[in-house]
Amino acid sequence: MEIKPGLHRIECPIGERYVAIYAVVGSESTLLVDTGFDDSIRTTVVNYFKSNKLSLDKVRYVINTHSDYDHTGGNKAVRELMPNALICAGERDRAMIENLNSMFYDRYNEFEKDHGFPESEAAKDFMMSVAFETNVDIGFSGNERIDLGGRYVEILHTPGHSWGHLSVLDEQTKAIIIGDAVLGNSVLLANGDAAFPPTYRFVEAYRSTIRLLKGYQPSEILTSHYPRYQGQAAIDFLDLSLNYTDLIESICLEVITAAKKPIGMMELIELTHERMGPWVDPAYKYLAYPVLGHLEVLESYKKIKSSKSDSGLIQYQLVK
Ligand SMILES: [Zn+2]
Repeated sequence: MEIKPGLHRIECPIGERYVAIYAVVGSESTLLVDTGFDDSIRTTVVNYFKSNKLSLDKVRYVINTHSDYDHTGGNKAVRELMPNALICAGERDRAMIENLNSMFYDRYNEFEKDHGFPESEAAKDFMMSVAFETNVDIGFSGNERIDLGGRYVEILHTPGHSWGHLSVLDEQTKAIIIGDAVLGNSVLLANGDAAFPPTYRFVEAYRSTIRLLKGYQPSEILTSHYPRYQGQAAIDFLDLSLNYTDLIESICLEVITAAKKPIGMMELIELTHERMGPWVDPAYKYLAYPVLGHLEVLESYKKIKSSKSDSGLIQYQLVK
């Protein structure tokens, strides 16, 4: 739907969830934020453009907010269907966006070697069936300003969920399209129920991102997997997200303090997931993203230290 003049939110189904793709329409060119799955572009976006009399030829900039395949899977379809489009992404996410294999092994399977939590081959097969890669034309680092024909957008570097994560500020409406830059206390299903944990990974960057977005005093925050958060609801969503990071960090430290011996990350998650959110097996295991992030923070501040267990996994204990 056109939520503000020339600002469109297009919800594309991805299983039980949706990914919202956004279009910002200027007099000269159109900017698209995220590409969903292959089918999101080929079916949902193409149909939406048709019924709203928008031109695929005018799409000049296609921003991937970050290196997740539900945000980049339609890149190849963009290449085929939008002949004037330049595909743009955060430079630090470029390698994974251009190579789904690297996205899988470096991002989704990051926890196998040191923490004993592998991502399944079935998950990889699924990714390869819905997402298709192509090269990224322009790598952004943040603070770029794009003229769409009398309408400007600003690119913001908003790391935390990934290192290269980008958000897009629409100057005309003061809305900020944030992708997955901020994730509340749960990622949601389409019906609003909790799907899986907020998978932020780089904690201090994530906290800075939340504060940065708050500083812009956005008219609204437009996410990929949540309803619109307008006015005070946007501030509340940002505050809730920041408070959640403090909660998870304090639970991690508390459990390591109470443990009689060094404890592994997945063991810690088994002990604490009911206090961190409502998810059931196997969704709660994706607490690996934020929990590892918090363990790294606690270790960098020398509150805890890590060592290798006999089985070769990393374990954590208090610094006394
Ligand atoms: Zn996402």
